[in-house]
Amino acid sequence: MADVTGPDPSVAAFAAAVATATPFLAGVRGLPTTAGPVELPRTLPEGPGPDVAAAVHHLARDLAPGIMPSPGPRYFGFVTGGTLPPALAAEVLVGAWDQNVALAAMSPALAEVESVTAEWVADLLGLPAGLSAGFVTGATMANWTALAAARHDLLTAAGWDLEADGMAGSPPITVVVGAERHSAIDLSLRYLGFGRSQLVVVPADDQGRMDAAALAHTMPTVAAPAIVCAQAGNVNSGSIDPMDTISDIARAAGAWLHVDAAVGAWLAASTRLRPQLAGWERADSWALDAHKGLNTGYDSGIVLTAHPASHRAATQATAAYLPASADHRDGSAWTPEGSRRGRALGVYAVLRQLGRSGVADLVERQCDLAARFAEGLARIPGVTVANEVTANQVLVRFAGGDAVTHRVVALVQEGGVCWMGGTRWRDAACMRISVSNWMTTPADVDRAIDEVSRCWAEAHSR
Ligand SMILES: *Cc1c(COP(=O)(O)O)cnc(C)c1O
Repeated sequence: MADVTGPDPSVAAFAAAVATATPFLAGVRGLPTTAGPVELPRTLPEGPGPDVAAAVHHLARDLAPGIMPSPGPRYFGFVTGGTLPPALAAEVLVGAWDQNVALAAMSPALAEVESVTAEWVADLLGLPAGLSAGFVTGATMANWTALAAARHDLLTAAGWDLEADGMAGSPPITVVVGAERHSAIDLSLRYLGFGRSQLVVVPADDQGRMDAAALAHTMPTVAAPAIVCAQAGNVNSGSIDPMDTISDIARAAGAWLHVDAAVGAWLAASTRLRPQLAGWERADSWALDAHKGLNTGYDSGIVLTAHPASHRAATQATAAYLPASADHRDGSAWTPEGSRRGRALGVYAVLRQLGRSGVADLVERQCDLAARFAEGLARIPGVTVANEVTANQVLVRFAGGDAVTHRVVALVQEGGVCWMGGTRWRDAACMRISVSNWMTTPADVDRAIDEVSRCWAEAHSR
């Protein structure tokens, strides 16, 4: 691109990308919810192509068959949020501005965005003021960061210098988890030196909630110091651990209480739904995913802690060329990352555009549409809703057992009207429906119910 004679190539590439993305966005509500494998050219080009705009179009053309229309309104797989318009605009600006949000000195604007967003998120969710925050790739790294802060905090209190002396030979920390925790907890703990067989597992109830009575029995038997990992939003059922009781128990035991709230956090933005999380504000740390219920683009996880000094000590790097700026927010000091994109901008843009009531409406709509799914599906003979639908998640079983359920899920996925995944829940195969997208309307849910009904009829008539 050395020989620039036409329009600036960045502008040309940008215009080509917008031109290519526009029909996708304009049509995403109507696209079939299917995607297939793509094959890209396997020969590395020997030199530059002639025209960046043409290259953008070729790239999009090659990838199109494999692009899943998951930003659309009838994609109910995993827990897949869409992208709200202000969040999409933020993604574009982040790309064009190309700010490195490692240090305030590199981008005063994005450092300020992170500061304000951290305060707004805590305020919106009924959490205390003065929390430390890190903007990370997702809830996996949010859990990791929170648990790294916990590890530092507890070992420091035990007189151990973790940063100097490492984990080997350190005072043991007991980690207490629920039986229905997300696999990201195990993964984060593994990265931090805690193996699966070292975890103390508290049983869960039939909705996947940690059994608080069992936790109360367990805590006096475990050695201090301890971390308790609770969950706000089971990835299958959407259920939320009894936070009030768990907070009391953890506090009485002197344990660090961490909450994996990747699925359930945004419920706290609604006065109607917040009671489900009552007591979570007394935790020590929280892991959130903005790219789920809040509908920002990927990758957007948030970690919050009530122990800023321990948080920072766990994740801050020091080097001679890094300026110390006590007055400014250096984003990388609060995350395991160095160079970072301006991912907080999407969260900020959504909160600034929607405000408190707009976010409350968004999450209430997700939960109301999940309830609509449950009611509609439960009316079909042979179809059983397998969970209490208290949030945005619905689990469905079909008469005839696991094989039939697998067949219905496969037929729905092939049909292209809507996309639902499968899971195992309480020892049975289930269809798993997650309503997480701002675009989804009651008509989309009704259409999806009809499609599930059609596939169920086809599956059991075979
Ligand atoms: C999605 C999820 C995670 C992992 O989040 P990522 O954003 O995929 O890293 C962790 N915990 C729970 C409960 C989740 O639903």
